[in-house]
Amino acid sequence: MAKATTTIRQVLNPQRGHSYQADYTAWFAANQDLFNRVAAFYFDVIAAHEKILDLTNKDALTALEKLTHTTKTHPHPIMPLCEIQEDIPAMFRRSAINAALGSTRSFSSNLGKWRKRKERAEAKGKKFHERPPVPPRSWNKSATLYAGQWKERARSSIMLKVWTGSVWSWVKVRITGREIPDGVDLGSPQLIRCGNQWWLHTPIEKQFKSPGKIEKQVTTNEQTRICSVDLNINEHLAVCTVQTVEGSILATTFIGGGRRVNGLRKKQLGRIARNRRKTGIIAEGEQDNADLWRKIRNTDEQVAHLVSARIVQFAKRNFASILVFEHLGNLKPAKGKYSHRGNSKRSFWMKGRIFKYSKYKAYNAGIVTSRVNPRNTSRECARCHSLVARHAEGKPAEGYTYGAPLVLCHQCGMRGNSDRDASLVIGQRLVERYQKPSKEKPHTLRRVSKDTGVVISQDAKRVGTRPSNGSTRHGDHNEHGTAQDVLSGMERHTSDIPHQLRFSFE
Ligand SMILES: [Zn+2]
Repeated sequence: MAKATTTIRQVLNPQRGHSYQADYTAWFAANQDLFNRVAAFYFDVIAAHEKILDLTNKDALTALEKLTHTTKTHPHPIMPLCEIQEDIPAMFRRSAINAALGSTRSFSSNLGKWRKRKERAEAKGKKFHERPPVPPRSWNKSATLYAGQWKERARSSIMLKVWTGSVWSWVKVRITGREIPDGVDLGSPQLIRCGNQWWLHTPIEKQFKSPGKIEKQVTTNEQTRICSVDLNINEHLAVCTVQTVEGSILATTFIGGGRRVNGLRKKQLGRIARNRRKTGIIAEGEQDNADLWRKIRNTDEQVAHLVSARIVQFAKRNFASILVFEHLGNLKPAKGKYSHRGNSKRSFWMKGRIFKYSKYKAYNAGIVTSRVNPRNTSRECARCHSLVARHAEGKPAEGYTYGAPLVLCHQCGMRGNSDRDASLVIGQRLVERYQKPSKEKPHTLRRVSKDTGVVISQDAKRVGTRPSNGSTRHGDHNEHGTAQDVLSGMERHTSDIPHQLRFSFE
């Protein structure tokens, strides 16, 4: 079994129509204040009884309660908590004790590290100027509400037991925001202050069957569904297709909005460039135009989250159990204006984010993620693996126009959207990785090596970049000068293709 944890964040609002609307923020603040006073008290208790840190959290809790909690059988504890306040509910106390234990453990481990550094320095005869870590001067922890401090949790409301400043009271609050999904284990919620608003953060944990290894899924079930994704910097930020291992194409989706994002970003980068021209040279190590940069970062981050969420939703909806991307490769420096260069850099960065977030979100949905070699994914025909012509609408279907939306395969007649074709090829590459050599499709995608004039099969090169592949494919298809016609349209682009690959001729 695998486990996924995440936090659901919800905003708290007072129940409509209640007279205490204005008070409830004051109550939560009073509650948090008390929580911190109790935690600080226990921090001191532990400091006075350092041996407590040798105990497990559970035993430490018992020991601390013995030292502080007044009961009938134990009427005079050494350091009574009731001096801070009477009638603190047991669960509130325990939550504060655990918060104090966490802080003390971290403080004492920092102190230990500092002592070691000091000893090491002194052993070498060096002077040691680093100041020791200090215990927290002020406490500003958020209260964790253990069971007993909350009840009647519903979709849009919850009852919380809080210290209002004068009494303990059950308060009913409305919650808005993301709903708690079904089939998860709820952790203890935390009351978090964020500006003037109060939030409820609830950790949730989901158990699920671990997704099978990709190799097993691909080699044992021909109906395994693979969702493959082509990430772009043009209008379609992502194009996803779902296909089975045996090759049936089941669904496609285009996730758009790229033009708008690029436009927004370009505008802001342009503004930064103009500001820089106005103000002259930027001091080294100083961030100029901080607001504009933050805006760009926020937009990119938000888009990466939205796109990754939609990718994973699409994969889930179509019952895919594997998600596959292409490796991003290296960022090719773009030429041109600052705003253009900056823009291509940021969109490259955003692709990395989309992959990272998708991987995480997919895992939570029981989907495993992989990456394949990106070489020529958009130049290969998904149906017959010849080179395709890529062209703009209304333009003749020949040659290869970088970024153009349409493809035509002159070998098999396949026509369609170029990004969709690329996404299909990406999915097929994953399957090929695990296929036995005997089951392979014949490969016809070739290109002429500039140095030798020899046509090299695509596979020969792929073996070079993927040594862990285990495939026995080598340059089976090497021939001399037969694919010139296919390649004629590509000639001027071959120089763009990096030559770092090892070729093998047998
Ligand atoms: Zn074709």
